[in-house]
Amino acid sequence: MKLANLFTLIIWSLCWLHTFGLKAQEGDQILDGIGETALTARYVFDENLRDWSRNNLHAELQGSEVVFADDAVFGKVLSLQSADKNFIKLPGALIGAEESLTISGWFLSDSEQTLSLLDFGVNTKNHFSIGLSKGNLIAEVIADGNQIQTKKQGLKLNNWHHFVVIFNIVKSDFELYVDGKLEETTTITNIALNQVFDLSNTKNNQFYIGQSLYGSERKGDVKLHDFRMYHVALSAQQVERIYHTALQGEAVVNERQENEDKLPGFHAQTPELYIAYLKSVEDIQVRTNVGELPRLPAYLDAQYNTGVDNTKVRVIWPTPEDNHKVQQEGTYTLVGRISGSPLQPKATVTVKQMPIKAPQRILEPFKLSQVRLNKGPHGEQTKFIENRDKFIGALAQTNSDSFLYMFRNAFGVEQPHGAEPLGVWDSQETKLRGHASGHYLSAIAQAYASSTYNKELQDVFAKKMEYMVETLYDLSKLSGEPKTPGGDFVSDPREVPFGPGKSGYDSDLSEQGIRNDYWNWGKGYISAYPPDQFIMLERGATYGGQNDQIWAPYYTLHKILAGLLDIYEISGNKKALVVAQGMGDWVAARIGELPTPTLISMWNRYIAGEYGGMNEVMARLYRLSGTEPYLEVATLFDNIKMFYGDAQHTHGLAKNVDTFRGLHANQHIPQIVGALEMYRDTDVVEYFKIADNFWFKTTHDYMYSIGGVAGARNPANAECFPAQPATLYENGFSSGGQNETCATYNMLKLTRNLFFFEPKAQLMDYYERGLYNHILASVAKDSPANTYHVPLLPGSVKHFGNPDMKGFTCCNGTAIESSTKLQNSIYFKSKDNKSLYVNLFIPSRLDWTQRNIQIDQITSFPNEDHTTLKIKGKGSFELKIRVPSWATNGFYVKINGKEIDLESSPGSYVSINRKWRNGDTIEIRMPFEFRLEPVMDQQNIASLFYGPVLLAAQEDAPRTEWRKVTFDAQHLGKSIQGDPSTLEFNYKGIVFKPFYETYGRHSVYLDVSLD
Ligand SMILES: [Zn+2]
Repeated sequence: MKLANLFTLIIWSLCWLHTFGLKAQEGDQILDGIGETALTARYVFDENLRDWSRNNLHAELQGSEVVFADDAVFGKVLSLQSADKNFIKLPGALIGAEESLTISGWFLSDSEQTLSLLDFGVNTKNHFSIGLSKGNLIAEVIADGNQIQTKKQGLKLNNWHHFVVIFNIVKSDFELYVDGKLEETTTITNIALNQVFDLSNTKNNQFYIGQSLYGSERKGDVKLHDFRMYHVALSAQQVERIYHTALQGEAVVNERQENEDKLPGFHAQTPELYIAYLKSVEDIQVRTNVGELPRLPAYLDAQYNTGVDNTKVRVIWPTPEDNHKVQQEGTYTLVGRISGSPLQPKATVTVKQMPIKAPQRILEPFKLSQVRLNKGPHGEQTKFIENRDKFIGALAQTNSDSFLYMFRNAFGVEQPHGAEPLGVWDSQETKLRGHASGHYLSAIAQAYASSTYNKELQDVFAKKMEYMVETLYDLSKLSGEPKTPGGDFVSDPREVPFGPGKSGYDSDLSEQGIRNDYWNWGKGYISAYPPDQFIMLERGATYGGQNDQIWAPYYTLHKILAGLLDIYEISGNKKALVVAQGMGDWVAARIGELPTPTLISMWNRYIAGEYGGMNEVMARLYRLSGTEPYLEVATLFDNIKMFYGDAQHTHGLAKNVDTFRGLHANQHIPQIVGALEMYRDTDVVEYFKIADNFWFKTTHDYMYSIGGVAGARNPANAECFPAQPATLYENGFSSGGQNETCATYNMLKLTRNLFFFEPKAQLMDYYERGLYNHILASVAKDSPANTYHVPLLPGSVKHFGNPDMKGFTCCNGTAIESSTKLQNSIYFKSKDNKSLYVNLFIPSRLDWTQRNIQIDQITSFPNEDHTTLKIKGKGSFELKIRVPSWATNGFYVKINGKEIDLESSPGSYVSINRKWRNGDTIEIRMPFEFRLEPVMDQQNIASLFYGPVLLAAQEDAPRTEWRKVTFDAQHLGKSIQGDPSTLEFNYKGIVFKPFYETYGRHSVYLDVSLD
């Protein structure tokens, strides 16, 4: 490839970085110190009834026109006059499966009369209302004959007041704040929000502002400003901040939350868990290359007092933000810290110029169609088949026209009979529309390849693929071509004019506002909206719901292009490749000549510039089509700051500096997947280091026990990495949730791709953890509904969305991909077909067609601790079997009933090289043990595992405290009863089940003591 352009680009960008700086974390993501994911809707009411949140739950006027009046405090506000007999209606989908609710708003009233500020619910017997009566503000919830109420008396009329009402299920509190201060708290008894709202059919919910469900007329006038709904309970500080910020007129972004948002505190010096028995820790020597920070082991060998069967201890090392210490050859010493212990292990670091390693891609995956999931040995269902069938079954029932709806809408093409639009992030006015269609392309391709067991299903998916591609192909061919012969057109993507009759580019996607002049969009253009968002991004547009704002056009494009390439690779449909190339050319023309400062500004603009894995998909497009310019375009998506620290490449992930602390997790993980694809296609070793260093850091310093990596309390955003590495307790466990599921989808992708270059057992240990304990655990019991965040605070419950595949968030999008490729990492092979890797222990059949060999894996794992491989066919090959890191109780292999001598250590692969015969049977046993996995900076907060399976304590009520347990220090198993074949255990009456079989309240982290 030609990398010259890349280096020119880097030099140009140098000066610019100094003058401009990078502000990656701006926008509404942490409005008033509250993470955006907690915000359901926000109505500023300044000049329209639009929802300012990303959910586009716009309000509607009922009755005569509303007035937006001038106001001395807030500029423009909504004025409801009693004479006008009008009120505001909000969409029924405003409520999801949330258990807690916060409503915030400003009002000014002149009325002595009873007046409803808002009334939400199913009917007058089950509703949630806030109203005014004679200077009193009253909030109440009525449900099935039960009632709770809070009140503030003596409000001044004709004054602006701020109210916040919180239904806090964890604390069982119903709270009323007025003007930033807590006025009254009532205990919630016998009332839950699912009594007040219809969660299964949201159309039955009524949400009124300025009107009660009783239908009585409003008497008196009221002015309203900035109404918000949050699906979490806000803290007192957050409430106060909303109040003060509004009056001071400046938003507080990224501010650290206050004391009350902290988790239950423990003494820093208390030696918790195994640390109480810790005697000494080894010092270590490490070597590193000049310029690169050393990779320090997260765990060191340690000595404990007799009887404790623990060998390693977690050490937290300093994590500098640059690499100035390693600029020259020499040695220096680092001092580590152990949570709760005065011991300070030392690392002597030798900095030396060393040859650079450049690993080759030595392994390949099998095609999805070569591996089939099987039932257990007794014909029993597995969780893998159960989840696969939920998704494949529902995908087969989908109407592809729903996934094409917004594409046709953008091009102004008539919808076929019966076509219905998707909702949520693909609805008419949502600026991310089309993202689900991209995931859908990938999912139907994978479903086709994975359903080899059912010819009818395969036909269904073959037709869907064909139909989707034909339609997208036809639409893309319209772009930049005259509508009628001889008509006007603009074929050059750089020359796209404003929409007809418009005076600028805008992101208005409403029925009335959307432009459909596809002949002006440049050749090859395809997306579910016109090109404006791409152009606006170049011109500085930020993220948001207004028409001069955008929502991640390249993120959506990545999904669409990846879907097209998946279809091309799986079915060979050449038109899919042609559509992708057409849009690839469009992107190349559009961004190929942009000045570097513009590019850097684009990719670092929070959410607006989120581009998913555009670097990955453009490099892949190059690999599949052989067209070099796509590779050059891919380099334009390099995240220079994260990858290289700065334009001179002085540090960054390439030099093992953690440059992603505090950043949005799922915005950045796909960029790393892209870096690894770039390495595959260019051999530029920096790209490999970026991916390898990132993986090591995320899995050691940011990971929860289920394998998720997002969820920061500081910065206050559930989608971000905590502000500092290895501070999960101090800065993680955000109240808005943790473990965004799409981030784990991407982590698994990264992990598997790294393994093809360096087959280390550690990678597959992580893969297994994330697959069983997050991906499998993210699906609802009776439908393919699935999780966004997976909250792990005590007494949490998983929330599942999108049961009917009609409204997708990012995580609903990746879920249809995850569950249609569950078998994709059980086996890998060496490129030369001489080695076979058995990575995971899942009942399945491998068709190793290249060797004419079939392998059946027969097991009930993890309901038993062994598996059997049966070989059909014959030949010499090396069998590499993973010895999981948790298999500390031995690892045994029998071939044809005879135990063989193997050197095996946990966290490695054993190798058996021989001439295999037809019918050979390999039995593998790896006895399970209970073990605890503590949080690195608070060792007593730990998760309980049995083998690979995370066990969750089943809870029957919300909790404010971690659940306390005391286990036997020498043998955890002594404290726990149960049946390994069902994986259901009992500790003093508390039931533990696999997290992937937990659907109610759970505690995944426990406060553990040992005795
Ligand atoms: Zn997501």
